[in-house]
Amino acid sequence: MDYLIPEEFSQFAELTRQFVRQELWPHEEEVERADCVAPSLAARLRAKAVELGLFGFNMPEEAGGPGLPYLAQVLIREQLGQASVALADMVGRPPKALLVCQGEQRQRLLQPAVRGEKIWAFALTEPGAGSDAAAIRTRATREQGGWRLNGTKHFISHGNHADYVIVIAKASQADGDVPAAFVVERGAAGFSVGRIHRKMGWRGYPICELVFDGVFVGDDNVLGAIGDGLRLGLANILESRIGVAAHCVGMAQRAYDYAVEHLRVRRQFGRQLGSFQGLQWMVADMAVEIEQSRALLYAAAREMDRGGDARAAVSMAKLSATEMAGRVADRALQLLGGAGYMAESPIEMIYRDARAFRIGEGTSEIQKNQIARACLGREMFA
Ligand SMILES: Cc1cc2nc3c(=O)[nH]c(=O)nc-3n(C[C@H](O)[C@H](O)[C@H](O)COP(=O)(O)OP(=O)(O)OC[C@H]3O[C@@H](n4cnc5c(N)ncnc54)[C@H](O)[C@@H]3O)c2cc1C
Repeated sequence: MDYLIPEEFSQFAELTRQFVRQELWPHEEEVERADCVAPSLAARLRAKAVELGLFGFNMPEEAGGPGLPYLAQVLIREQLGQASVALADMVGRPPKALLVCQGEQRQRLLQPAVRGEKIWAFALTEPGAGSDAAAIRTRATREQGGWRLNGTKHFISHGNHADYVIVIAKASQADGDVPAAFVVERGAAGFSVGRIHRKMGWRGYPICELVFDGVFVGDDNVLGAIGDGLRLGLANILESRIGVAAHCVGMAQRAYDYAVEHLRVRRQFGRQLGSFQGLQWMVADMAVEIEQSRALLYAAAREMDRGGDARAAVSMAKLSATEMAGRVADRALQLLGGAGYMAESPIEMIYRDARAFRIGEGTSEIQKNQIARACLGREMFA
């Protein structure tokens, strides 16, 4: 289908496509087996992504990024979605919260993240505060020259090997608690990694619990103003959601391509599998669903680029693509039969990996809430 994509954006997509096939796919099996991207491999892949100008592709020019419109960004992310989650993540996308860095924070925190030299984690979710992010209980109390942090975060991506963690906590003020963003560096006294969560998929992509037991954070490690925490926490949210949608379109396309090739090659009852009408119709359903999600994705990216209120469009794209990826992965697995269940094809990995995208960056139900607000008017939800 022709989505009237400008030629220069298609070139970024092609560059990423080649990077995925040449640099990431060869390592997929070892990462899946070891459930880890070896540090030396991670460093090599990040350096390559930096060299190609892909690392930090979401960053504006003033932060050292390429300043790409969202439409170009989703094309890149769609291609990255064709690799395993852990390997796709080697092309880092620093959080937008870092754009509020001031003075020396820019050299110490922002620029090394954009250059792929420092790994960050972003810690908002807590055992008692998931979809309801405003319910966080991690607390920061004022001290001479900074803040003292106490609390526990969980489900934090890369928390165990991040150079620093952006922690959203409630800062105690005379007139009540307000959310704020604090940077906790690895090795800070009182900061420790709790459980590394065992999980269903996303092998090689660690997710963990982080404990802050009286961690001192100097004023130079506060991001933005006290009170800005949730705004900074959610600064990224549209970009993260549309990124997830793009990733899911990419992973579904890979599952589809793999299944279609299988139907051409595999023969049963003396015929190609692809000649059975029941299977042909499954392929048709997959193709339609992928294209529907892709159309919503590009429309939402264009809405973001226009600068309008894109919240509902992005939620529609995320909801559609994440749910679709699960259905497409399931059909692809069925089309492959036993071979789809075995870890020798990428379908088994895609089937597992797709599931998490319906939860992270706002669950499917939270996306529906957002869409319903746009449909019914926000006053209905006061
Ligand atoms: C792979 C992965 C990586 C993650 N990485 C990070 C990270 O790096 N940093 C971070 O801070 N967090 C991270 N998270 C956490 C993620 O943001 C939360 O899991 C998500 O926000 C949902 O919160 P919860 O798991 O507590 O579910 P809950 O909020 O407890 O929701 C449970 C169920 O209730 C539904 N529900 C909740 N509220 C409503 C409502 N109002 N209306 C209708 N249904 C509702 C939900 O949709 C869901 O089905 C990650 C999660 C995953 C799975």
